[in-house]
Amino acid sequence: MNNATKRDPRVVIIGAGMSGILATIKLREAGIKDVTVLEKADSVGGTWRENRYPGLACDIPAHMYTYEFEPNPEWEHRFAKGPEIRRYFEKVADKYEVVKDVRFNEAVEQCIYRDRQWHLTTSKGESLVADIVISATGILHHPAYPNIEGLDSFGGEQFHTSRWPESLDLKGKRVGIIGTGSTSAQIIPELVKEADQVVVFQRTPQWIYPAPDREYNEKLRNKVRRNPELARRAYRWYTKAIEFFFSRAVIGQKIPHGLMSWMCKRHLKNSVKDPELRRKLTPDYTVGCKRVIASTKFYDAIQQPNCQLVTEGIERVSEAGVVTADGKEHGLDILILATGFKPFNFMRPMELVGRDGLHIDQAWEKKVQAYRSLLIPGFPNFFLMLGPNTPIGNFSVIAMSEVQNRYLLKLINRWRAGEMQEIEATPKATQEFNAYLKQGMAKTVWVGGCNSWYLDPDGDPAMWPYTWGQWVEEMTTPNLSDFTEGAA
Ligand code: NAP
Repeated sequence: MNNATKRDPRVVIIGAGMSGILATIKLREAGIKDVTVLEKADSVGGTWRENRYPGLACDIPAHMYTYEFEPNPEWEHRFAKGPEIRRYFEKVADKYEVVKDVRFNEAVEQCIYRDRQWHLTTSKGESLVADIVISATGILHHPAYPNIEGLDSFGGEQFHTSRWPESLDLKGKRVGIIGTGSTSAQIIPELVKEADQVVVFQRTPQWIYPAPDREYNEKLRNKVRRNPELARRAYRWYTKAIEFFFSRAVIGQKIPHGLMSWMCKRHLKNSVKDPELRRKLTPDYTVGCKRVIASTKFYDAIQQPNCQLVTEGIERVSEAGVVTADGKEHGLDILILATGFKPFNFMRPMELVGRDGLHIDQAWEKKVQAYRSLLIPGFPNFFLMLGPNTPIGNFSVIAMSEVQNRYLLKLINRWRAGEMQEIEATPKATQEFNAYLKQGMAKTVWVGGCNSWYLDPDGDPAMWPYTWGQWVEEMTTPNLSDFTEGAA
């Protein structure tokens, strides 16, 4: 069946971040014309638009952190800074005229399945009907605020890292930061440059991998502009390097994990000479259990004379600052909450209701899970980009989105050809898929004795426990016997 004889589905994409931009481009390339993107904010870019904290960068090498079809000769650093990445997504969205299909400042409030169609209501009170919905709402964007007594009583300025104020003067200020995850490790080296005092409240130390950055100067960028094959080659090189090192280390393969552990431990030993400080910064869990932080700046920053590492537990927040368990009050002007995100919220607070009134909260009451991370039984023709157990702890999210896009397009093409009316995985296939995931988890580093955002409330990592290659292979062709209309 050629494109001309295919049904043209009405598709709504929720979110104009990295996954939403990609889905729009790929659906159009496949000949699907009726595409509407609903974006809650006023511009594209998702997480790279929302996060604006100083030091914001990506820990995946820039030449790999691109869509495979759109290399970028303009990268200015090996590990691109936030504004560079935002510019990249804006440029791609412009080039492919994604924006013409985006309705900005319009959040989806309700998405209800009725009569084999999705009925959406938006924050502007508008109604839309779609055959297919692609939820491209990202993972790490619901701030996790800590449950600390007196937080609201703080008299100074206080905010979560993802809500960085437009203008913030750090000069002469006493700045406290709660949390020492990837975000905090990027911010602290910038804070110590400007603030009078920086107090870092660490609950759990983190392993830090020394990944040196490098500036790509104009001469080098010109070379890549003239020969884009160089960017493609870098993409392939970094892809292989991450595939064979990092993504195998985290699933517990001995040699890459041994090497990663050795590098983190050596980095700490070489960087921090004071034994007491080194003790405080040494984790007691397996390297990689929490997401390894990539930084060559953190240890240097924490040893600056204006920086203090506090490992006493936080008892409460007072009007003047933070009070720790030893009774000490740390006076502060600014309190930064680098306390991470709620990764299991996904498309919510949108009200998502599937077949026969099945609410997403009911479907996920016992466990947040999906078939192949993308499909939830009871929610036909609804695709969840980067859903639970996507290999986000193993690889680059852009590559993942591309693989998921190819997979969902194969299913949508069956809908277009009239071979499937409802694209829906069976509950049995979903259970089997999740049992298969669980089976692989025991060997991974994520169950290596730590608490992290990778773990769901049952303590199961919502990650992919096998190799990247295996994930790509299994996502190449949908297994139709796992679908309710598999035999159609
Ligand atoms: P995170 O890794 O979840 O770290 C949160 C930090 O806050 C932890 O140190 C945690 O301590 C601490 N914390 C939370 N509640 C607390 C409380 N009540 N009292 C004291 N401390 C508390 O969050 P994140 O740093 O924002 O990073 C989240 C993820 O975003 C990363 O793992 C990464 O995947 C992604 N990210 C990526 C990049 C990049 O370069 N690509 C950059 C930034 C972030 P505990 O460890 O004790 O829980």
